[in-house]
Amino acid sequence: MNQTAAEGIGKNGGYCHRCRSWHILPWKEAWQACTDLMADLHRHGRVDLMQPEEKADSRCCTTPLFAAGAGKMLGLLLGRDTHGNEQRLLAFSGMYNGLWLIDGWVEPVFNLPDFLALHGPAEKKISTLGAQLASLPPSAPERNMLRKKRRELSRQNMAAIHALYTLRNFRGEEQSLTSFFSTTSGPPSGTGDCCAPKLLHQAQRLRLRPFSMAEFYWGGGNASARRAHGHRYAPCASKCQPILGFQLCGL
Ligand SMILES: [Zn+2]
Ligand SMILES: [Zn+2]
Repeated sequence: MNQTAAEGIGKNGGYCHRCRSWHILPWKEAWQACTDLMADLHRHGRVDLMQPEEKADSRCCTTPLFAAGAGKMLGLLLGRDTHGNEQRLLAFSGMYNGLWLIDGWVEPVFNLPDFLALHGPAEKKISTLGAQLASLPPSAPERNMLRKKRRELSRQNMAAIHALYTLRNFRGEEQSLTSFFSTTSGPPSGTGDCCAPKLLHQAQRLRLRPFSMAEFYWGGGNASARRAHGHRYAPCASKCQPILGFQLCGL
């Protein structure tokens, strides 16, 4: 862990290289609002809270989250719109049970149709190679070549997907996600899909001025996951902190 990462533990924001300082968002007010959200989640047992009970989507049920280690990070941002009214944004990390979009929750950072056009065909190719590999005897000489090919395809797919993420800060500046990480390793898988970057991106899209943000874990924890149901956590050091300083710049 480098010095900046070590300094950042528990900080609700990130280091901004332009301002040479940390940009941090307070969490207490948002955490207060999380209490209401948690009560709603507990009461309804689903995340499609905008839908009336009879229209609830079974994929949005929270029961599967309570299997050991299957919980999910959820996040809440409070901001003011251009009229000064307080607005609340909600986010789940990554996908929720195979869904990128759920009414009442913010969209992913990338453009979804672009993502689907890339990801679907690439996954198909990768799984075809996997099936070919599985059908070969362990001693077959083509195995190494196929394995290499599959690894290369996965790498290309990941790079193409990361290229879909363009972050925008509160000065109106844009920067690609990949520019925040070393060119050799690239961003870790799932960078930009955590709650904090999704919330800030949506706030910027909607021209909200965020003033508080908090994230918590909902569902079953386990010893190795080091997450517990209903507990608050700061943004992760590996994926979020390298980008949050930029995203918060200009607030
Ligand atoms: Zn994160
Ligand atoms: Zn800055």
